[in-house]
Amino acid sequence: MRNWPPTDPEITYFATRRLQSPRTRGVMVNAPALRPASLISLGLAYFVVSAATMRLTRFDGGVAFLWIATAILTARLTTMPMRHWAAPLAICSVASILATSLWGFGPSMALPFAAINMLEGALGAAILHRFAPWRPVLDSHRWLLTFALATGVIAPLTSAALAASILASAAEQPFLRSGLNWYSGHALGTLTFMPIFMLVMRGDAVRLVKQMDQRKLVEFAALVALVGTVTYASFAQDRLPLLFLPILPMVLATFRGGALSTAASIVIVAVIGGALTLQGHGPLALVDAPIGAKMQFLQLYIACAMLTILPANAELQQRACLFRRLRESEARYRLLTENSTDIVINLDVGGRLQFASTSIAQISGFEPDKLIGRRVSRLLHPDDAARAETSFRRIIAEPTKTHVNEYRGVIGGEDVRWFETHSRAVTDDIGNVTGVVSAIRDVSNRKAHEERLARAALTDALTGLANRRGLDEELGARLSTGSGGCVALFDLDHFKRINDTHGHAAGDEVLRRFATLARASVREQDLVARLGGEEFAVVLPEATISQAALVCERLRHAIASTSVQVGESLISVTVSGGVAPYLRNQSSEDILRVADRALYRAKHAGRDQLALAA
Ligand code: GH3
Ligand code: MG
Ligand code: MG
Repeated sequence: MRNWPPTDPEITYFATRRLQSPRTRGVMVNAPALRPASLISLGLAYFVVSAATMRLTRFDGGVAFLWIATAILTARLTTMPMRHWAAPLAICSVASILATSLWGFGPSMALPFAAINMLEGALGAAILHRFAPWRPVLDSHRWLLTFALATGVIAPLTSAALAASILASAAEQPFLRSGLNWYSGHALGTLTFMPIFMLVMRGDAVRLVKQMDQRKLVEFAALVALVGTVTYASFAQDRLPLLFLPILPMVLATFRGGALSTAASIVIVAVIGGALTLQGHGPLALVDAPIGAKMQFLQLYIACAMLTILPANAELQQRACLFRRLRESEARYRLLTENSTDIVINLDVGGRLQFASTSIAQISGFEPDKLIGRRVSRLLHPDDAARAETSFRRIIAEPTKTHVNEYRGVIGGEDVRWFETHSRAVTDDIGNVTGVVSAIRDVSNRKAHEERLARAALTDALTGLANRRGLDEELGARLSTGSGGCVALFDLDHFKRINDTHGHAAGDEVLRRFATLARASVREQDLVARLGGEEFAVVLPEATISQAALVCERLRHAIASTSVQVGESLISVTVSGGVAPYLRNQSSEDILRVADRALYRAKHAGRDQLALAA
């Protein structure tokens, strides 16, 4: 559960479970000490269970062959912070002293044995605290490994060594035999019973049951009943070695029922199998061995069954958790894509559509499922298809990069709009590209704005003609492609006087009139530009100097014979011009300089005339 906050109800349940149970480090630290009633129940349970196992399983007068009390104590200790451990340890010590005094090695051994039992419980719980404190019980391999090492190896080995030493010196019991019996009884008793005790004590068992719906509850009950019945059937008879039989319902309970039925089925097999074996029934009745050895064999059998089903359960729980996370991220992803005006698509490596968010309808006119399997290049403007193809190959070749492109899309078969795409290759777990995911946004408005800005930068605001930069760009383009032509420069005569006499606004009106007349005098392919002030240029591609002279003369004449009405007054104006031919690949500065020299001559020759470059 690394994703936070969870969204769907199941995940919320899971998260709440985490918060409510003392499984998180923080919550465990804040968990209160046990209430007196719980402490007394713990002491009583410890006493009853240890007394019962001593009464029933001290087959050879030595140590008990089965020991469940440590499972109770260790499970309890794992549910609370270490600073609250004193009270439960004290009350269990009293219980242990009483049980040992009454049914064990007697009062003289009661104190050291109680100390050893408490050490064993505290050691197992301390290791779990340190290495897997916030892990869900039985739900992870890490918890399982820590649990097995702590309560199945380290704690019982330590207690077995101490107890066997004491028994060897004080009661003349053989060290190895009592050590081995102690170890196997304690290790397997704790491993077998602790998971279910933990689930119960942490409140997980009740919550897991409450969480089940009717169908799940019936299934859980049926699984538990099945394990019980099959175990009973296998152990109540004493003719066939049916030890393998209970494994089948146990595995079924693990795969269908989760942690609770896994833990429950181990306990059921241990209790039913143990009780019937003690009474001399079951597959072990076929073995010719003392009852102690049979019980140890039974413990080995239960340990093997546990080693089969607990890791399988952990794996299943981890997969379930992964699946929940996947569903959560899938839900979040779907929420984003379905409510966004952006379009999200997945393509396979062949460029065919695998997934499209609903918003794709806005460019294609089709619902997403109608387009699945089709090539998206069909939706692009034909002029952009080849570029898109190249870029698609680059995206696949560079899977670690996000590629940003702009394409035109044809909406509804006619309306062209601009789209910005952010694309990235999707790879499988060994790095092979399996497809491409793209987020697509309509950027037509931005594009239009950019185009407006670009056009404004090249346009003269007063006349709407190209400005100096517009002329430079256009002339540059013509010079590199066409075969030559002519350029004319025009300058209004005595324009300053017009401004001075009629005002600046009247001057502006004259400039606009010149622009209109100039545009009307030239061909469609000719370019008229305002260079600044009252100076204009006309580019006449493909025109000879005499053709250009003719056009320019017509313009000069048109200006001279027109009066501009501004308010009350009629303004007349004349213009001088210089015409120069140009060749392909000549520099525009050179051409304009030659034309400017011709203009200068026209001015000096008396204005209102043209001069041709020599
Ligand atoms: P010439 O015959 O020698 O060309 O004389 P001119 O008065 O036309 O020459 P000059 O270059 O001295 O004057 C150009 C004038 O154009 C000066 C300036 O006030 C005016 N002018 C420049 N830009 C604008 C404009 O945008 N609007 C108006 N109304 N006048 C402008
Ligand atoms: Mg001038
Ligand atoms: Mg002038």
